[in-house]
Amino acid sequence: MSRLAYVNGRFLRQGDAGVSIEDRGYQLGDGIYEVWAVIDGKLADAEGHFVRLKRSLGELQIDMPMSREALTVALRETVRRNRVRYGIVYLQVTRGVARRDHAFPTVPVAPTVVITARSIDRDGAEAKAAKGVSVITLPDNRWGRCDIKTINLLPNVLAKQAAKEEGGFEALLVDADGLVTEGASSNAWIVDREGVLRTRDTGANILRGVTRLSIIDVARQAGYKVEERPFTVAEAKAAREVFVTGAGALVMPVVRIDDSPVGNGHPGEVASALRAAYIEHVTQTAV
Ligand code: PLP
Repeated sequence: MSRLAYVNGRFLRQGDAGVSIEDRGYQLGDGIYEVWAVIDGKLADAEGHFVRLKRSLGELQIDMPMSREALTVALRETVRRNRVRYGIVYLQVTRGVARRDHAFPTVPVAPTVVITARSIDRDGAEAKAAKGVSVITLPDNRWGRCDIKTINLLPNVLAKQAAKEEGGFEALLVDADGLVTEGASSNAWIVDREGVLRTRDTGANILRGVTRLSIIDVARQAGYKVEERPFTVAEAKAAREVFVTGAGALVMPVVRIDDSPVGNGHPGEVASALRAAYIEHVTQTAV
């Protein structure tokens, strides 16, 4: 089955789909994106992703390209036409097409809207989570507005490639004070020596992960103590557990950081329990 992409209101075979070479996303990275996990063919944590989408667009002064209702229909239709039951749906909105110039076009142009969806092998994902993943640490050299989910991902791309070359799943990014900010495409968590769940606060220069927010709720409801408080690389290496969260990975236990095993080198109880609880939560609430 060929994959179908939604491009400005039309469904096209992905191989035939395209946008102008003067799209500002292509030329200047002038756009944002959002990713929803798809569970049982539905959008997980839908509300949180819509809220962040609106905020990202607002920060770039790009109008919502269509109503939330219309966007929901387009996202769900892309999921349906691609027969995705478990996977992700990707939305990208750029400022649109205009003659190349750094400043915004003087005559407003329509934003470019692209949606794609793809399946993730659920058994493979569960097997990976059951085994745990390794990560590397790297200096966080991104810009000062990581709270905006922009398509400018070059530092993240390079970090992820470096992790891949080391056989790692993710790169944990570390700020100038030696504190972990987040992963290249995930939020980072530890279960510290006292059994407290810790993840970086959103006052720091990080993306406000939608999964992160849900996990805070799910964990508190399960009786865990959660603190939005930074941790160092040394604390992560000495932690009982480490895990990362995101719409693609959901909750992924980390069993090695650089050359140090985490805990006993196997996924921890808390991360595994939270993964199950989060999947249960989104299965109940997905739309
Ligand atoms: N941090 C970064 C840099 C990301 O790119 C992502 C997801 O792509 C996340 C965190 C996790 O965010 P979410 O849970 O909303 O997918």
